[in-house]
Amino acid sequence: MRLVTENPEETIEAGYRVGKALRKGQTVCLYGDLGSGKTVFVKGIARAMGIAEREITSASFIIISEHMGETGIPLYHIDLYRLEKGGIEETGIYDYIGRDGIAVIEWAERAADMGDCIRVKINFISEDKRELIIEGLDETDRK
Ligand code: ADP
Ligand code: MG
Repeated sequence: MRLVTENPEETIEAGYRVGKALRKGQTVCLYGDLGSGKTVFVKGIARAMGIAEREITSASFIIISEHMGETGIPLYHIDLYRLEKGGIEETGIYDYIGRDGIAVIEWAERAADMGDCIRVKINFISEDKRELIIEGLDETDRK
């Protein structure tokens, strides 16, 4: 699926749509340059899970932040931006992936093999315009 958003709210709405189609144990891998809108997109996934958007922030030193959704499904927001090369094992992120919650990973390309994930690539078009390429999402079984 390819879509173009014209402002941050539209990217949140795209995240919401993906969030509504997600099920426990699934992983979303986010790709895109700094400032492309990955964290904004995660806010939409959070909205779909009944988590306040203000809880979703850009990581400074925290690599994993956990948020409990209204449905009892936790959201693991993982940001690998500051990951040192080769340090992936030490982060412990593999303990959060494919388990009881939904894992969303920014800078997923910094981890070697993320296995089966829904891939979202965000491309900068202009100041407020972004292209989103979403692959691997099954919307036939939406909640
Ligand atoms: P990333 O996590 O990819 O580094 P952020 O989500 O933190 O990026 O930031 C994206 C920035 O781009 C925000 O300041 C947001 O307001 C701005 N922005 C402008 N237009 C859009 C859009 N269409 N979609 C998402 N973000 C946008
Ligand atoms: Mg970010």
